Amino acid sequence: MKNRTALVLHSGGQDSTTCLFWALQRFAGVRALCITYGQRHAPEVEVARQIAARAGVAFQLLDATVISRLSQNSLTQHDMVMDQEQPAGAYPNTFVPGRNLFFLTFAAVIARSHGIRDIVTGVSQADYSGYPDCRDTFIRSANATLNLSMDEQFILHTPLMWLSKAETWALADELGVFDLIKKETLTCYNGIPADGCGQCPACKLRKTGLEVYEKTRINAARR
Ligand code: ZN
Repeated sequence: MKNRTALVLHSGGQDSTTCLFWALQRFAGVRALCITYGQRHAPEVEVARQIAARAGVAFQLLDATVISRLSQNSLTQHDMVMDQEQPAGAYPNTFVPGRNLFFLTFAAVIARSHGIRDIVTGVSQADYSGYPDCRDTFIRSANATLNLSMDEQFILHTPLMWLSKAETWALADELGVFDLIKKETLTCYNGIPADGCGQCPACKLRKTGLEVYEKTRINAARR
């Protein structure tokens, strides 16, 4: 893939930053696309911009705030109390219906305008709260639909799809960006960089994965 350019959906969080560096290792060129949708963790946009600058890739910001007006969810309704756990038989109120479908559609249209076919997204179904638009079946279906809708041959890459959070930390380490991702990314739903607030579901997931990975890292260093 050394003669192709990839477009990476980049939010400034752990997962998408890992994907950005994954793409840099595989593609001749990389572009970062950051989409705002009225999310409460808006500071991540500046984090995303800084990381893209450090990585030396073109950065584009797209305002899709309309997404926040389409449904009730705690990521865009700032006065709604965020579910800390997954309610029985329902998605947590952090689920933004349609978000990844909108994101992939915007990404594909923008990729096409740059003559890009490869689109990278950090969704994962292995270690997540089960959002339907993070699943592999959804990605395959969206890939087919985007190709049909524009008569193109897009390839949606999901390097984290089957990785646990601990394995995503391991991948960051392999890519040589463990410290950058640990210290400079923003995953927290409350907009606090690095270790975050420590309480929101995104922080808990990130922290648990980091603890598991750091244990194996220490053991490996001892051997
Ligand atoms: Zn947090």
